[in-house]
Amino acid sequence: MKFLIPAKATTWAPVPANSDFPIQNLPFGVVVHEDEQRVVTRIGDQILELAALAEEGFLPGDPVDYLDIETIIGEEGGDGLSRLRKMLYDLLRTDNPNLRDNSAAKAKCFHPAQDAPLNLPLMIDAYVDFYSGINHASNVGKMFRPDMAPLLPNYRHLPVGYNGRASSVIPSGVPVKRPCGQTKAADADMPTFGPTKELDFELEMGFFVGAQSEMGEAIPIDEIEDYILGFVMVNDWSARDVQRWEYQPLGPFLAKSFATSISPWLITLDALEPFRIAGLTQDPPVLPHLRSPKPGHYDIQLEVSIQTPRMTKPQVISRTNTKELYWTAYQQLTHQSSNGTPLEVGDLYASGTISGSEKGTFGSLLELSWRGTEPIKLTETGETRTFLQDGDVVTFRGWAQGEGFRVGFGELTTEILPA
Ligand code: CA
Repeated sequence: MKFLIPAKATTWAPVPANSDFPIQNLPFGVVVHEDEQRVVTRIGDQILELAALAEEGFLPGDPVDYLDIETIIGEEGGDGLSRLRKMLYDLLRTDNPNLRDNSAAKAKCFHPAQDAPLNLPLMIDAYVDFYSGINHASNVGKMFRPDMAPLLPNYRHLPVGYNGRASSVIPSGVPVKRPCGQTKAADADMPTFGPTKELDFELEMGFFVGAQSEMGEAIPIDEIEDYILGFVMVNDWSARDVQRWEYQPLGPFLAKSFATSISPWLITLDALEPFRIAGLTQDPPVLPHLRSPKPGHYDIQLEVSIQTPRMTKPQVISRTNTKELYWTAYQQLTHQSSNGTPLEVGDLYASGTISGSEKGTFGSLLELSWRGTEPIKLTETGETRTFLQDGDVVTFRGWAQGEGFRVGFGELTTEILPA
């Protein structure tokens, strides 16, 4: 049961032009306030505390029902968020005076967004990373397996993925310490242990699971949408030199598990519904159990910028779009469930690195600098980058552009600290 907010809807709450958070968005996030976490939504540059709204009688139930997203959704999954989003929309509509004209309640419920560091939206027990960016997979194939076809034979038949590490998923704003690991230079006899020299970002889109399935139960693709709660941006940090040495034959391990950053606002399926598109044609046709009954991709613009310690402002180094993904979130989760593994509330799934087909649209430094052979130029200071250096700040931005409004993800920003 989706709740769609009309493109022409307006609010009495102030919303700056081109804000990521107009009334059409109404995402959910979690702030920590005096050691207690609280669920909030965002409108313009302000956050709105749901427990405070319940205390003032603007939302039903007890304030304690609004301290985490798991409690809010209960057994309802995404429908729980749809219902709550409808109530928030009604409260914030231009023509509803109830909260609009109650200054005392507004002072209690609204806070400036920049004063509130955001936590992870849900408790994450499992993290899976897919590899569904076809241009990225193809670029990596060209770089590391130049004598073979860029895509491996399974690529167009199933969404390739691996189990990542949930305990090191962190929200925007938390710095990442350069990890140490084992590497071996091509001309060396023995590996060495030390700080990675090839620290990289990976631009990805992720989603949270919002409903539980039973062990042994495979969820069909036409029902899988009920299990997805919403989307976040993901930076799947990578230590390329560590990965090169460790990944065969079982896949990435310590080169990935030191940190994964996510944007703090859970953007609901409802808010993104107007931006659904068919996306890339899947050829050859996929097996019947992975065939979607409706378009499953989204038109979401993505941008990566970098700011070194010497720069005074960030420089955009890549622009791309989620429509470059080959597999949809719905196909990814159906594939995960197809062997009967139980899906759990709070599981995080990432798309795989999203790259366009041309230079300047790639989602990693590995590709942007073509394995370190074509350094990126930073115009303000004349510096160059192949991989990240200590003190560099990487920021992702993402938004879907509507007619006169945008549904945005805000920023995912991370500073690199020394080992
Ligand atoms: Ca990845």
